[in-house]
Amino acid sequence: MMTYSSTRGGDSGKTFSEILLSGLAKDGGLFLPDEWPVFTKDQLASMAGKSYAEIAFDVISPYVDDHFDAPRLKAILDKTYGAADTRFHHKAITPLRQLDQNLWSLELYHGPTMAFKDVALQLLGHLFDAALEDKGERVTILGATSGDTGSAAIEGCLACKNVDIFILFPDGRVSDVQRRQMTTLNAPNVHPIALNGTFDDCQNLVKAAFNDHDFRAAQNLSAVNSINWARIIAQTVYYFVASAALGGCERPLSFVVPTGNFGNIFAAYVAMKMGLPIEKLIVATNSNDILTRFFENGAMEKGEVTPTLAPSMDIQISSNFERYLFELFGRDSGVLNKAMADFADKGHFEVTKDQLDQALTLFDAGRASDAETLETIARIHREADLLMDPHSAIGLKVAYGQRDKNGANDVPIVSLACAHPAKFPDAVEKATGVHPALPNFLADLMGRDEHMDKLDNNLVSLQDYIKQKTS
Ligand SMILES: *Cc1c(COP(=O)(O)O)cnc(C)c1O
Repeated sequence: MMTYSSTRGGDSGKTFSEILLSGLAKDGGLFLPDEWPVFTKDQLASMAGKSYAEIAFDVISPYVDDHFDAPRLKAILDKTYGAADTRFHHKAITPLRQLDQNLWSLELYHGPTMAFKDVALQLLGHLFDAALEDKGERVTILGATSGDTGSAAIEGCLACKNVDIFILFPDGRVSDVQRRQMTTLNAPNVHPIALNGTFDDCQNLVKAAFNDHDFRAAQNLSAVNSINWARIIAQTVYYFVASAALGGCERPLSFVVPTGNFGNIFAAYVAMKMGLPIEKLIVATNSNDILTRFFENGAMEKGEVTPTLAPSMDIQISSNFERYLFELFGRDSGVLNKAMADFADKGHFEVTKDQLDQALTLFDAGRASDAETLETIARIHREADLLMDPHSAIGLKVAYGQRDKNGANDVPIVSLACAHPAKFPDAVEKATGVHPALPNFLADLMGRDEHMDKLDNNLVSLQDYIKQKTS
């Protein structure tokens, strides 16, 4: 059975169910499996023609424990991605769209909240529920959102019997669509809270609640943040799915990944470790380009976060990058701890020339400014009559650059489309003059009843509210 250890070296021998529910390791590190299961050529070839749920089973089953035996895992994957029960609005779950002779867009935004986080969070809710059922426990998930990702967490927990979820958002500072995606669900375990304050206030209040150890223990407080290993492995699936569709998992592909916390692209790295033929993994950033600079010069230099048209990529510290560094450092926690300490103290660390060269055998990187993002949205609209959101357009800009560099007959490039254009309508309209319509399943969103409570920026009020709603 697969065991997991922390990147920082102070926590090991954990099972899948343990790391599923605990998230961060107790030494502050991130969990990784102790080995990479590798598919044989025959196993890879057998994925051509399988459904999304079947490929998900092949990819995920080597990582789980006895709580998720084959029939149970299959049932969960079927509920999440199978035809009958899925909340995804495309039969392929993550369809490919050909843009050009050798360029494809992998559309990850057909889930209930129109962004790629649904692909993992829809599964995570079911995994949590099953693990909690076995333990006879409930958890309270508490999080803060500036608008884009709260609804994906809520949607993921919607059908959970053993999970209550509370999401704080700044009252009056999220768009009507964002708010309504959180407030129109009306499930007894779902609690969107409009806080009288800013997004920072929301985050600080969540932190304060987690730091109140008695409250945390009494409520069994938990989070579904992007460092959770189960989210990574759920994302690894669609790299196999895309590859199976385009070349039967035999032809090497390059992937361009719009990157923030490095979760999505690390999932591609995992696919490569499991035997998927990958030519290049290309990190695409906006002007918050700490990762692109790293792949240019081998140095991590902390900077200020600049707001851009692609807010889900407005990040300076990419939490999941620690997982890749650990791999790059030959899984030596001592070296990793030193780099992490330097980064925390001085906002800076470097890798050696050899380590950078090794990273560049697989990775490449590029960036797009806001102006370039708008130009790319306009270009793909002009050339292919397609609307694309700013995050996806950043990927496409970098993909065009890569193709111009390598020639159109190079290996096929798959550029990930991370959000539906209607999720970021203002940028799309600015670039194209077209206001992107909500997809059919959300067309009546503005007419649905809203359910939320308003709270003041006060820890005791929040704690009382949570206690009352979960008692
Ligand atoms: C979260 C997100 C990203 C960044 O993904 P990471 O896994 O954090 O690198 C990019 N685009 C959109 C739309 C997102 O929601």
